[in-house]
Amino acid sequence: MLLSMKKFFLSLIIISSLSSVQAQEKKDLSLSEMTEIWDTEVPVVTPGQTLMDVPSDAIVLFGGENLNDEWTSLEGGPPDWKVADSCLTVVSGTGNIKTIRNFNDFQLHVEWRTPSEVVGESQTRGNSGIFLQGLYEVQILDNFNNRTYNNGQAGSIYKQYTPLVNACKGPGEWQVYDIFYTAPRFTSDGKYFTQPYITVIQNGILVQNHVAVRGPTTYELPEYNIKFHGAAPIILQDHGCPISYRNIWIREL
Ligand code: MG
Repeated sequence: MLLSMKKFFLSLIIISSLSSVQAQEKKDLSLSEMTEIWDTEVPVVTPGQTLMDVPSDAIVLFGGENLNDEWTSLEGGPPDWKVADSCLTVVSGTGNIKTIRNFNDFQLHVEWRTPSEVVGESQTRGNSGIFLQGLYEVQILDNFNNRTYNNGQAGSIYKQYTPLVNACKGPGEWQVYDIFYTAPRFTSDGKYFTQPYITVIQNGILVQNHVAVRGPTTYELPEYNIKFHGAAPIILQDHGCPISYRNIWIREL
């Protein structure tokens, strides 16, 4: 009993001297130093040579070959899209393709090109799209001198958000989307707590600025209802047009 009392008082003395050292250290800090955060150093990521190149922590989803490493058809078999000259091209009628991996929050870099031979108008000219978590489409369309409904043109969150500007290059030119995505958060009963958020930069120009998605993007009545889901794949759309893709990489956030 006497021994444990001794131990108790000894610990009190140690704790109190430690706190007085810490207090002294704090007292010695200037006001500006007290607002500095030093704990847990920020991780280093090595950038690529250019803004197109893959940063050191990114996953390459398509680097010019080996499509089957990261993509499947929606049914799960090998995708039937064409790979040639380091790019991937939609083969009309073969269906959408999806990533094998599932993702939550991410930064996604995608380069895409609509056909140089202009065919069709409005929504039938160079249509494809990138479905984030398989549900929320960032539209791809040839909108260089091609009018369509505003909330369905390139850079739109399909039928939900019109792009801030039309930043399209011409048919046959490579274009770039840099997409920043925050997945929805759900409460324990499966109701959504925060909506998904999307930011899109097209060819270096901001076209969507942290917009709150209302639900899955659909052709007819938009579904303003976000149902519970977890990490999910990225889907590229076969809309019957031979859109090409290259240099697709993603950074999980
Ligand atoms: Mg589309």
